[in-house]
Amino acid sequence: MSEQTQESGTSRPRRVVVVGAGMAGVQTAVALREQGFQGAVTLIGAEPHQPYDRPPLSKAVLLGKAEGSAFDVDFEALGIELRLGSEVLGVRPYDHELDTAEGPEPYDVLVLASGAEPIRLPGVEGVPGVHLLRTLDDAERLRPVLARQHDIVVVGAGWIGAEFATAAREAGCSVTVVEAADRPLAGALPAEVAAPMTAWYADSGVVLRTHARVERVEAGAVVLDDGSRLPAGAVVVGIGARPATDWLTGSGVELGPRGDVVADDHLRTSVPDVYAVGDCASFPSGRYGERLLVHHWDNALQGPRTVAANIIGETPGVYDPVPYFWSEQFGRFVQYAGHHESADTTVWRGDPAGPAWTVCWLREGRLVALLAVGRPRDLAQGRRLIEAGTRMDPALLGDPARPLKAATA
Ligand SMILES: Cc1cc2nc3c(=O)[nH]c(=O)nc-3n(C[C@H](O)[C@H](O)[C@H](O)COP(=O)(O)OP(=O)(O)OC[C@H]3O[C@@H](n4cnc5c(N)ncnc54)[C@H](O)[C@@H]3O)c2cc1C
Repeated sequence: MSEQTQESGTSRPRRVVVVGAGMAGVQTAVALREQGFQGAVTLIGAEPHQPYDRPPLSKAVLLGKAEGSAFDVDFEALGIELRLGSEVLGVRPYDHELDTAEGPEPYDVLVLASGAEPIRLPGVEGVPGVHLLRTLDDAERLRPVLARQHDIVVVGAGWIGAEFATAAREAGCSVTVVEAADRPLAGALPAEVAAPMTAWYADSGVVLRTHARVERVEAGAVVLDDGSRLPAGAVVVGIGARPATDWLTGSGVELGPRGDVVADDHLRTSVPDVYAVGDCASFPSGRYGERLLVHHWDNALQGPRTVAANIIGETPGVYDPVPYFWSEQFGRFVQYAGHHESADTTVWRGDPAGPAWTVCWLREGRLVALLAVGRPRDLAQGRRLIEAGTRMDPALLGDPARPLKAATA
């Protein structure tokens, strides 16, 4: 059983162990201290580097404009024990213990923040010149590749593929993006919204090949299933990510069909004293009436505050955010807030062929999501309107000259 101390009549954990020293893990440790937790906090991370932020990896770090992206956190001053280069191998919830290569590790409360790992392209293991982009090591391996200005083939026209293609063009490489679906971001956005984004590839000098499946990768070339052969000094695979939860298999912690840790609305898992947060966990969204698995930075920032509050137990809270993310691609600043379904009504603000436009999704007259390209004010106002569940007037909403907050019904 867990050891608890009695303070002010409430039962408080003495030792919190966080697995994963990415954004969600670091923010959990920091939030515990910010919210006054005085017990021991241990942060265990598999990577050897000082904890760092991932978004710059596909942007400034890749282009050598920034050396790294380490978090500006003084772990020592905060009394957070940081254990890096240590992979947690498993958890035994009934013993309240983790297994690490260095031996068992006890906890009172455990936070799972092991993030996500990139999906690999089958059959390319060991082929030279094939890269992923998830870690600082990946970005550092890719930097000299860009500097050599090779022909680069990017597999996958998702967020990472688009950002990598942007950086590679900026570095002077020839870039072909190969996408199995009929358009970029097919998993995230409907065809009418992806259509103007498709044009950004050509405008930036990137060749986009849709309906194109990789048959195999050879040294120096990617062979597609229609037989075409693309010269490739390097191949970057960006076909998605999945929760890094293999280490939890058989532990009793419930995993969902996508490998996600199934958390409740307080970000508690199926076993006592174990929470989950960030890219590794899904949670039930009361706001959207479905379980969400969010692989974006803001979720790894907001979720930890709820986890810390629930661990401390003074002002426990429900986690029900309006998801948010941004992407910088082909000279555009793209932001998305909320969550939409194909049945939702779309309303456009501005000309999608132009440099700045927004698309809004309405459900029963209320704003549920928006995508803003070069219109950060729309995003900021829209996010608040989504949070408030405000009814909108579609005719007013369609006028890009009218502030979004002045388009309410
Ligand atoms: C290149 C790139 C660019 C991105 N750009 C954007 C962007 O522009 N906008 C946006 O909103 N989002 C962006 N994201 C997504 C965002 O970075 C992630 O959502 C965020 O990093 C999730 O944080 P996390 O802590 O949950 O997971 P992670 O960042 O994946 O951290 C988890 C950590 O846990 C460690 N770990 C895993 N298993 C174990 C184990 N068994 N034992 C010990 N340690 C373990 C991992 O090594 C890792 O360091 C980007 C992601 C990448 C990869």
